[in-house]
Amino acid sequence: MLPLPKVSLPFTIIDSHSRRGVCGGSPVGDVRNKGGRHRKITVNNLLSRDVGVLKGIGKETAHSLAEMNIYSIKDLLEYFPYRYEDYRLRDLADVPHEERVTVEGKVHSDPSVMYYGRKKSRLTFKLLVDRYLVTAVFFNQPFLKKKIKLNDTITVTGKWDRHRQTITVQHYHLGPYSYRSEFEPVYSLKGNITSNMLKKFIATALNEYGDYIRENLPTAFLENYKLPGRREAIRAIHFPKNAQELKQARRRFVYEEFLYFQLKIQALRKFEREHSKGQEQHYDVKKLREFIQHLPFPLTNAQKRVINEICADLKSPYRMNRLLQGDVGSGKTVVAAVCLYATITAGNQGALMVPTEILAEQHTSSLRELFEPFDVTVELLSSSVKGKKRKQVLEQLENGDIDILVGTHALIQEDVNFKQLGTVITDEQHRFGVEQRRVLREKGENPDVLFMTATPIPRTLAITAFGEMDVSVIDEMPKGRKAIETYWAKHDMFERVLAFMEKELRRNKQAYVICPLIEESEKLDVQNAIDIHAQLTHYFHNRYNIGLMHGRLSSEEKDQVMNAFSRNEIHVLVSTTVVEVGVNVPNATIMVIYDADRFGLAQLHQLRGRVGRGNEQSYCILIADPKTEVGKERMKIMTETNNGFVLSEKDLELRGPGDLFGKKQSGLPDFKVADVVHDYRALETARKDAAELIQSDAFWTTEEYEPLCTYLQESGVLSGEKLD
Ligand code: ADP
Ligand code: MG
Repeated sequence: MLPLPKVSLPFTIIDSHSRRGVCGGSPVGDVRNKGGRHRKITVNNLLSRDVGVLKGIGKETAHSLAEMNIYSIKDLLEYFPYRYEDYRLRDLADVPHEERVTVEGKVHSDPSVMYYGRKKSRLTFKLLVDRYLVTAVFFNQPFLKKKIKLNDTITVTGKWDRHRQTITVQHYHLGPYSYRSEFEPVYSLKGNITSNMLKKFIATALNEYGDYIRENLPTAFLENYKLPGRREAIRAIHFPKNAQELKQARRRFVYEEFLYFQLKIQALRKFEREHSKGQEQHYDVKKLREFIQHLPFPLTNAQKRVINEICADLKSPYRMNRLLQGDVGSGKTVVAAVCLYATITAGNQGALMVPTEILAEQHTSSLRELFEPFDVTVELLSSSVKGKKRKQVLEQLENGDIDILVGTHALIQEDVNFKQLGTVITDEQHRFGVEQRRVLREKGENPDVLFMTATPIPRTLAITAFGEMDVSVIDEMPKGRKAIETYWAKHDMFERVLAFMEKELRRNKQAYVICPLIEESEKLDVQNAIDIHAQLTHYFHNRYNIGLMHGRLSSEEKDQVMNAFSRNEIHVLVSTTVVEVGVNVPNATIMVIYDADRFGLAQLHQLRGRVGRGNEQSYCILIADPKTEVGKERMKIMTETNNGFVLSEKDLELRGPGDLFGKKQSGLPDFKVADVVHDYRALETARKDAAELIQSDAFWTTEEYEPLCTYLQESGVLSGEKLD
């Protein structure tokens, strides 16, 4: 179990719930952590007894158990299997090739043994299973020849080879099916602990202490959702009698885990709202309307809606902590501009923080353009702003001569001081570390903070990882956009791709060619930017100019290349993913992505978003020879949808949350039983329930909710004692 990553949550959360799973609820788990400070005399303390009190657990065994994070009886009872061996009887007709199966059959031929190598043997006989005659194979157990007789009934478990109609037996039982359980739990083990030992300890613990397991979910929920009680569920998760029992126990713990997780997030959100005094920014509505009327285009309804949501936050006494999601090209920049202007009309300064220098420069110039008629000073602060210029910018910032500061990480350095910072906006927020976001938030007097992201966050993740934030969504594209056509080509079709590019180039359009790495790497068989650049220069010699862009160029060099590309002096830009976010060159209509299968879907979608920014039909060509089915599926999905939300849901399904944001950034605890993708319905239910509980007075006063309240109290969320 990983501790809850300190991601996106403004509190440091240390609790036994996320670390050791679903133990929450009763104070037991925390007693040891707090050195007995809160020790209460309740029956629960029996469960907090050291595992050493159980028969058969000596010093050495206790040591091994400790390695598995099992210290108390409670820890032991809540050490859940990570999977189960399925010993259910099945009809062979339904069993796929190479799957494990358990069948009962009649011995239909005398066993014969064949010896080979040294001490190796193979025993086979025909087995009649219902109406199928199959071959049973046992390796290295020649003695069974004497035990297995013609016409005996035998139960075997093993791998089913559908083509050869053979079962390679791993377990057997001489006689009819009588396995103790249809499901055998499988635990992860450490030290000298064996599976049988652990099962015995758990069985003993259940016997001797099972009666003290206390319910921690309100009865109404158990009844509503038809969930088994905690004691019953703990027994069933270790020793399920059948599939139904296991399923119900699992359902219960999925819900329990989600409810506890959501309670904490909702409590955090409530606490944040009530305790984070922000500034009331009284912006000038008339001026704001004027600014919006001056924009080169009418705002979409979605843009208007989110601007209203953000402005309401600015005016309120709470500090804004809002996530703005909008697909690539949905027009987030102008929303940011309107909000920054609102801040300025309230007499404050604004900051816009972006992940790359290219983006910082681009935003600076587009904001300057927008603000030109409104007497707003926009300045850039990036690592390329040095020496005298930097000093000057910093002075003007402190004087209040600069209204809006745009920049990269340079914005949050210690010597950067604003006169009166009102609003901070970060673009592509998932690229910033939490620490950087926190430092930025702490500049000035509790500035309102807006995090913008084009990575569509699947609902399931949004309500978990970003559950403590308010969320606004731009779910509408500006009118007149043509959908980008996406094609998937194999590497050997590159010639045709080049011909297609040339056709567009002849129409005076431009192209991006993206490669995963800068230089050749022997480990990864990927085309590199430098190589491709050389190839294309050779192919298009004299006809078109090919530029090269990658992270190892200095920022001046990057500027030069980018500016030349914007001016259409470079026609084809070969680049690594540094152009992934935000870059805006509307004349580019082709995006070719090399080794596209090496990128996540969300990232491919970002890259694709670099084209289709004007009114012309644009194209995205993915070059990839994926080897796996999942890889092929991913390429296919890209060609089928332009909807970033659909893609991110799909990516989550195919690759899991870790891959979407990077494990650390997903902000998700490692759930013991629950799975955010497959159990998303339970997650939504738990979120709704948690939100209602936190808001209701009864929650804090009714005895029934006591385990939940205690859990929240001890996690420190309520008192803010874990505020960092
Ligand atoms: P993103 O959300 O990806 O940051 P941008 O803010 O870069 O998108 O906007 C993409 C393009 O759409 C820009 O050229 C911008 O000027 C244009 N745009 C934004 N809003 C509108 C609108 N309401 N109508 C027409 N064009 C718009
Ligand atoms: Mg943008």
